[in-house]
Amino acid sequence: MGKPTGFKEIDRRDHGTLPVAERVRSYREFAIPLDAAELSGQGARCMDCGIPFCHTGCPVNNIIPDWNDLVYRHRWREALDVLQSTNNFPEMTGRVCPAPCEASCTLNIVDAPVAIKDIEHAIVERGWEEGWIVPDTPKPGTGKKVAVIGSGPSGLAAAQQLARAGHAVSVFEKNGKVGGLLRYGIPDFKLDKAAIDRRIAQMEAEGVVFLTNVHVGVTLPAADLLAAFDAVLLAGGSEKPRDLPIPGRELDGVHFAMEFLGQSNRRVSGEAWDGRDITATGKHVVVIGGGDTGSDCVGTSHRQGAVSVTQLEILAKPPERENKALTWPNWPLKLRSSTSHEEGCERRWGVTGQRFEGTDGKIARLHGIAVDGKLQPVGGTEFSLKADLVLLAMGFVHPIHDGLLEQLGVVRDLRGNVKADTGSYRSSVDKVFAAGDMRRGQSLVVWAIREGRQAARAIDEFLMGRTDLPR
Ligand SMILES: Cc1cc2nc3c(=O)[nH]c(=O)nc-3n(C[C@H](O)[C@H](O)[C@H](O)COP(=O)(O)OP(=O)(O)OC[C@H]3O[C@@H](n4cnc5c(N)ncnc54)[C@H](O)[C@@H]3O)c2cc1C
Ligand code: SF4
Repeated sequence: MGKPTGFKEIDRRDHGTLPVAERVRSYREFAIPLDAAELSGQGARCMDCGIPFCHTGCPVNNIIPDWNDLVYRHRWREALDVLQSTNNFPEMTGRVCPAPCEASCTLNIVDAPVAIKDIEHAIVERGWEEGWIVPDTPKPGTGKKVAVIGSGPSGLAAAQQLARAGHAVSVFEKNGKVGGLLRYGIPDFKLDKAAIDRRIAQMEAEGVVFLTNVHVGVTLPAADLLAAFDAVLLAGGSEKPRDLPIPGRELDGVHFAMEFLGQSNRRVSGEAWDGRDITATGKHVVVIGGGDTGSDCVGTSHRQGAVSVTQLEILAKPPERENKALTWPNWPLKLRSSTSHEEGCERRWGVTGQRFEGTDGKIARLHGIAVDGKLQPVGGTEFSLKADLVLLAMGFVHPIHDGLLEQLGVVRDLRGNVKADTGSYRSSVDKVFAAGDMRRGQSLVVWAIREGRQAARAIDEFLMGRTDLPR
């Protein structure tokens, strides 16, 4: 365990951030990491509780107390080995995970959990800097071929695990580059795309083949994959956005968040995009939806030079602090403010849009109203906001059904996701498996990695009759 008295002697410390005025001038990451001595002290705070609740708080079951202890003792290389035994991409979770592990840390009972996410991030970055992260030695080939459809964190984790088990893995991706929402959803200021590229290079060296600009079910019939591969994993994400079908929805300047964010990420990386420019420059921006996607719209709008940014959320404002007795060690409902909110944004809760008003076909105002606890409009609370750009960030309802899923004819669950359980990950169609947002619905990077790993294990067992892959 860290230092037995560490948690009494050392306060929690978080990484720093560049000042707002400086960071909004670029799309670069702005976290200032703790140094090695500070991180050792933070690792020392881990109490090695009898029941490490962080293990189950973390969806990939990272063995957190062990690497906390190793970092405390400056044994970074061993810490990396432990970390990589459960997580294929700690550099992604170390950057963007909301850290449910920290919510379940025993020290969170007094609001001072171990800085688990910062320690995870530091271990993996040290691994890359020192050259410790190299391609795994290829295993003897099994002669089995697996197609993975979708290159988000779920498909990537599965592909890496399956290649390491000796299978010939091909990843099919409809976009021009690999990474799924890591690449085209999450902005660069939260996740530098170089972090994806170096991991992809490792995976290519391990034998994974990436085929981009291939839209399975559109440019390549799904039946061709079924004929050519021994197993197919559906990891296509949950891409159907929730709409707001109120009067004026058709006006120019009302867009789904992903139209805006995907284009912005492409612009930052110098990649071309289809369709007209959607930018926040010089505009009053209204973001509808209070989650991660909405927050990323806020931060991106600042960097593009918006005049004002307002974010609306239909649910009531959550409490500033949770009732620990009711919630710990689970993920609590409480007010969360992102670094994008720190950069400036008017946030309004318990409201919804009623109609968009336009001038010459272009959005000019949003008319909204407050809602009650049953989300019903409350008369007399009408308001209106100037809006030159409205971004709909109200989540995703399910995967796209047209094309791939229709052609395969996989059974869907009541929410419209591909139906498969979390033991076998098998869909209703022979040798077709499903994982990540396409199976569980809109979720988190860390859950996608977990499902990719577990689905890989299930596929390996299906192909070989046994498996040594960890879950
Ligand atoms: C804007 C935004 C910000 C987010 N921020 C965070 C965050 O900070 N932290 C966090 O933990 N989670 C975040 N999430 C959620 C997280 O990104 C997702 O839960 C995660 O990426 C899901 O992984 P996945 O592999 O299942 O799917 P995805 O990442 O969606 O990847 C699916 C891939 O499949 C491809 N594809 C789909 N259909 C086909 C087809 N027929 N043929 C070929 N390719 C296909 C898609 O192009 C895509 O590349 C965010 C989501 C969004 C939208
Ligand atoms: S992956 Fe997320 S939940 Fe797991 S240890 Fe890292 S930050 Fe915590």
